[in-house]
Amino acid sequence: MQERVMPFRCIVCDQRHWDGITVMEEFICGRCEREMIRTPVEHEKYPFFVVQMRKIWLKEQA
Ligand SMILES: [Zn+2]
Repeated sequence: MQERVMPFRCIVCDQRHWDGITVMEEFICGRCEREMIRTPVEHEKYPFFVVQMRKIWLKEQA
């Protein structure tokens, strides 16, 4: 059975994608997921990812 699903909106880059993962009912696109994985903690972009991920955790607690 072919199911028609709308593209998900990535919580990190705020763009709609088809491929990616769902964390705590929030979607992270494959591109951002790969970027997060290969971004070292000391990288200047890392805090950005942490902030985006924190949105998910805060939502979960609400
Ligand atoms: Zn993304």
